[in-house]
Amino acid sequence: MDLLLRGGIIIDPSCRREGPMELLIQSGRVAALAPSLGPVDVPVLELAGKIVLPGLIDLHVHLREPGEEHKETIATGLAAAVAGGFTAVACMPNTSPPVDSRETVAYIRERAARADLARVYPLGAITAGQRGRELAPMAELAEAGVKGFSDDGRPVPDSMLMLRALQSARALGLPVLSHCEDLSLAAGGVAHGGGTAARLGLPGIPAAAEAVAVARDLLLQQESGGLLHLAHISSRLSVSLLAWAREAGIRFSAEVTPHHLLLTEQAIEGFNTNAKMNPPLRQEEDRQALCEALCSGLIDLVATDHAPHHQKEKEKDFMTAPFGVSGLETAFPLLFTHLVERGVLSLYRLVEAFSTAPARVLGVAGGTLAPGAAADLVVIDPLHRKKVQKENFFSLGKNTPFQDWELQGYPVLTMVGGDVKMCRGEVKSCSSNFLPVWQGVLKEGRL
Ligand SMILES: [Zn+2]
Ligand SMILES: [Zn+2]
Repeated sequence: MDLLLRGGIIIDPSCRREGPMELLIQSGRVAALAPSLGPVDVPVLELAGKIVLPGLIDLHVHLREPGEEHKETIATGLAAAVAGGFTAVACMPNTSPPVDSRETVAYIRERAARADLARVYPLGAITAGQRGRELAPMAELAEAGVKGFSDDGRPVPDSMLMLRALQSARALGLPVLSHCEDLSLAAGGVAHGGGTAARLGLPGIPAAAEAVAVARDLLLQQESGGLLHLAHISSRLSVSLLAWAREAGIRFSAEVTPHHLLLTEQAIEGFNTNAKMNPPLRQEEDRQALCEALCSGLIDLVATDHAPHHQKEKEKDFMTAPFGVSGLETAFPLLFTHLVERGVLSLYRLVEAFSTAPARVLGVAGGTLAPGAAADLVVIDPLHRKKVQKENFFSLGKNTPFQDWELQGYPVLTMVGGDVKMCRGEVKSCSSNFLPVWQGVLKEGRL
């Protein structure tokens, strides 16, 4: 629908805009953006005290479908996405079957279209069956619409195969999203190889398990000229390699997750399986190095690595419970509250990391409110404080280490292509309250 958003602060790093502005939406697109647009003949939404951003884009989520629908479905994952302010997500191919054929890509796209919430960019497997032996049919997958390649969940252990993957993806103009882990160094580990794991008697994963793989992939990028994206960087050691690579002129992009920015190994105390993730939560010096790298731009962007699991799976003992955290519905308010409000990171840089940068890395539209762009946007309420309540997640994955954290900066309106998908926490075609709430807001003319 056509709509004028008025009275809010607009932050759009794609065109270096920040300040009070009016935004006109017509036919699903941004028609105009200016300090004042004069009288217009469309419904008006007053946004005093709110912040308008380009829709958030998460290039690292696990939607679990096909094959593990007891953990998440494409529909529930996308409901979680729009609830968290995300207008687009890229989904990892470690489903069952993995995304290594045209048919599976088509299946995901069809399910996503049926859910009609956030946009979905499927990622294809690097190797057939994600078995790490031979390359998946990358050209066929590209033709079917994947926006990048990854064997996430596992690394590609064979360096020659990874080199060829970077070369092939480069020829297709697509990025390779690398899960950096040396399996021989990480073998059997369930937590960071530090003091907490030692005290709890848990086998550790050293920071070197990640750094060895980061170093290899950076060198392979130099060899291939490929579009290398490094997933979930977790340690100071890896950050120092990124600094070296930047200095050496090696091209890469990198992501960090909200949990690695805010938590340390201490979160696993009491054998808390909701803090069990891969790569593991590390130490305070690692956490600080990640924050600094995000601030400076050495790490380009934030991705959630949304990894929903069933409660019964996370209730297993620490050794056998699966790795991962349900991240879509807490990511933005977590970093708004703990980095922006505390003066660690500017809101402008956070928006860039959540929106403009992931669009650039994936080579997709979005991450902008420039006139002509699709009206994918999110409105944030910077002041309203609310506790994280996993029971209220749209995601089937209730596995969060942030339960009961009091946060602010929650999204209150998410719009995709000019269509409102979430309003005040109610999600279109998921919440029975969605229509009455949205119609009430429209009638009142303010959010
Ligand atoms: Zn991974
Ligand atoms: Zn992942």
